[in-house]
Amino acid sequence: MQNISRNQKLLAAGVAVLSVMLMCVWFLGVKTPAYAVLINGKQQFIVKDRKQVELAIEQIGKQLVKDNKKVALSSKIEFKRIFAEKNVLLAQEKIAPELKKGLQFQTNGAVIMVDGKKVVCMQDKASAQSLLVKLKSANSWIGDHEKLISSAFAEQVTVKESKVYAGEVLTPKEAWNLITTGTASPEKYTIKPGDSLWSIARANDMYVDDILKANNLKEEDILDLGQEIILVKSKPYINVVAKVEGTATEIIPYETKVITDNSANGVKVKSAGANGKKEVAYVVEKINGNVGKKEVISEKIIEKPKDRVMVKGARVIQVASRSGNSTGTLAWPVTGYISQYSRSGHIAIDIAGASGSPVQAADGGTVTFAGWDGNYGKCVVINHGNGLVTRYAHCSSLSVSVGDSVSRGQTIGTRGSTGRSSGPHLHFEVMSGGSRVNPLNYLR
Ligand SMILES: [Zn+2]
Repeated sequence: MQNISRNQKLLAAGVAVLSVMLMCVWFLGVKTPAYAVLINGKQQFIVKDRKQVELAIEQIGKQLVKDNKKVALSSKIEFKRIFAEKNVLLAQEKIAPELKKGLQFQTNGAVIMVDGKKVVCMQDKASAQSLLVKLKSANSWIGDHEKLISSAFAEQVTVKESKVYAGEVLTPKEAWNLITTGTASPEKYTIKPGDSLWSIARANDMYVDDILKANNLKEEDILDLGQEIILVKSKPYINVVAKVEGTATEIIPYETKVITDNSANGVKVKSAGANGKKEVAYVVEKINGNVGKKEVISEKIIEKPKDRVMVKGARVIQVASRSGNSTGTLAWPVTGYISQYSRSGHIAIDIAGASGSPVQAADGGTVTFAGWDGNYGKCVVINHGNGLVTRYAHCSSLSVSVGDSVSRGQTIGTRGSTGRSSGPHLHFEVMSGGSRVNPLNYLR
């Protein structure tokens, strides 16, 4: 009996050892010793060999180093020994991309603060400061006969040296784009019944062209209800206000006087008339390079205009020549659609349409400016008398020159996109008594 029981015990032990061994073989066939990788306390993935992870971290750090600056891993990384199923192990080539998602490296850099808020991280204080200097000078352009009085940021702008995340450091070009357009996070808009690109543009102070470009749309594309579009509105983080002082020579258009003489026959020009000249001193504010408020300080007449005197016989009912004469109302200067209406900051209308369409004088008058004028690009200004002046900006070509007498409807140039313009349109301004007024109140 003793022998049997002993044999049975041996057998039982043998079975136990064997089954443990078999279990081990099975276990090691499916599971393997591995490391769970934790970033800031959260498990991210599992690897066989922790050395591969450490190597990948080192390489990512090296890639982030610019100009021999040190980067330091700011995320906490931990390894936990585990047994894992073989099929959950992360392949070696996927380790670096996974790490890049979760790891943060810090480096010494500089932050541009706008009104106390962090806006841009740059590599160092010098590059941040040189960007700001460039921003100021690019937006403080002066024309001929102009002098810069002051140039300042509208916001409180400071540069602070600090630790920054390596991935957040922008190149000077990226930083420039962000500061001047603020397009880091474009707004989205969902199409509602009754919407058109024009109504959306108008409601958001945008140009239709910008919406078309940002959304890769064509003018004739049909918008679907519920469709989402991006509104890339140019909203600079930093605005530059430059005060400029200048002088300009302006034409004083002559007036036409008609004398009735019963003894005369028909209409005769007694004296031709000549435009006068005046020198105007002004101060203008340019915001981000856009000509804003203009204030005339003084005017000096250099040459008085000479009246054009005409003698009309008694039998003549109406003088036919309209050249240089104004009618008080304005004709549409070009065909197209209104892409921007008059509103505060844009007392003008933009009439968009094909490039090259003829631009016509809204009424008879004298050309007092024809040429390049900063943001206006190629531009014509016509004085219609009685304090009424019109401006035609962004032309692609001009066909009149200063001093020309033009009649209502006469072609003075062609529509284009010169100067500060996002697409072919005529920027049409009307000035009455020296200040801009809504052109739609005059157009007939
Ligand atoms: Zn405009």
